[in-house]
Amino acid sequence: MEKDFEGKTALVTGGSRGIGRAVCLDLAKGGARVAVNYTSNAEAAEETVQTIIKNGGEASAFKADVSDPEEVQKMVAETEKTFGPIDLLVTSAGIVRRENHETLSFEIWKEIMEVNLDGTFLPVMAIKDGMLKRGFGRIVCIASIAGLRPRPNNIAYSASKAGVIGFVRSCSEALAPSIRINCLAPGLIETDMISTLAPEKRKAMIEATPIPRTGTVEEMANVVHFLLSEKASFVTGQTYVADGGRVTLP
Ligand code: NAP
Repeated sequence: MEKDFEGKTALVTGGSRGIGRAVCLDLAKGGARVAVNYTSNAEAAEETVQTIIKNGGEASAFKADVSDPEEVQKMVAETEKTFGPIDLLVTSAGIVRRENHETLSFEIWKEIMEVNLDGTFLPVMAIKDGMLKRGFGRIVCIASIAGLRPRPNNIAYSASKAGVIGFVRSCSEALAPSIRINCLAPGLIETDMISTLAPEKRKAMIEATPIPRTGTVEEMANVVHFLLSEKASFVTGQTYVADGGRVTLP
C-alpha cells in the first residue's frame, strides 16, 4: 500500500467506532499518526488505538465532546502536543434520532444540531488557522445523503447534514488554496448507528438501492482516503456520495 500520509498528523472525531474507526485504521496504514477522538466509549477508542499500534502504527485516544468549544480546543492542543501540528482532519462524530414532525421536540433538534453541525464547525475552526499558517490542510466532513434528500422521519438529522454540506462548500472558497475541504455523503452503512433501524425500514431502504445492500465502513474509508490524498489535488468544496446509487433515485 502507498504511504499517502507518511509523516502527517491526523485527527478523526468519532474515531472510536463505525466509519471514524475505519478511517483511523486506514490513515494509520497510510503512515499518519492518528488522534482517535471519542466522547463516552473509552473502551472502543482504546480498541481502535491498540489495533493501530499492533499493526505498527501510531495512535492515541482523546476524549472530547465535539459540541463543546472548550473540550474541542483542549483536544486539538493535546493532539498537537502529542503528535505535532494537525495536517488532516476528519469529522465523523455524529448522532441520529429518528423523529417525525409530530415527535420532534426543540430539545432533540438542538441536540442533533449541536453534535452534528456545531461538532463539525468547532474542530474545523479550531484547526484551520494553524493549517493556513503552515500552508497545508486536508479536511473531510462526514455528511449524509440525508442532507441531499428529504427525510420526513428524520427532519433534524437531515437539516444538520445539509448544514454540514453548506458549511463545507463555503469554507472551501474561504480556505483555498492551502486547505482542501470536502464532504463524504454515505448512504446506509453497517455501523452501530443503523442498529436501531426497524427491520422493515432497513429492508425497504436496501431494496430502493441499485446496489442492494448496506455499505461497509471500509468502503467509506476508501473514499475519505482519496479525498485527503494528493490524488484529489484539484478537488475541494465537493460532496462525494457513496450510497450504492440510492440518491439518484426518487
Ligand atoms: P457510530 O458507529 O454510531 O459512531 C459514532 C461515533 O461518533 C462514535 O465514535 C461516537 O463516540 C462519536 N460521537 C458521538 N457523539 C459525539 C460527541 N458529542 N463528541 C465526540 N464524539 C461523538 O456512527 P457511524 O455510523 O460511524 O457515523 C459516523 C458519521 O457518519 C456520522 O456523522 C453519521 O451521521 C454519518 N453517517 C452514517 C451513516 C450510516 O448509515 N451509518 C450514513 C450516513 C452518514 P463514542 O464511541 O464515544 O460514543
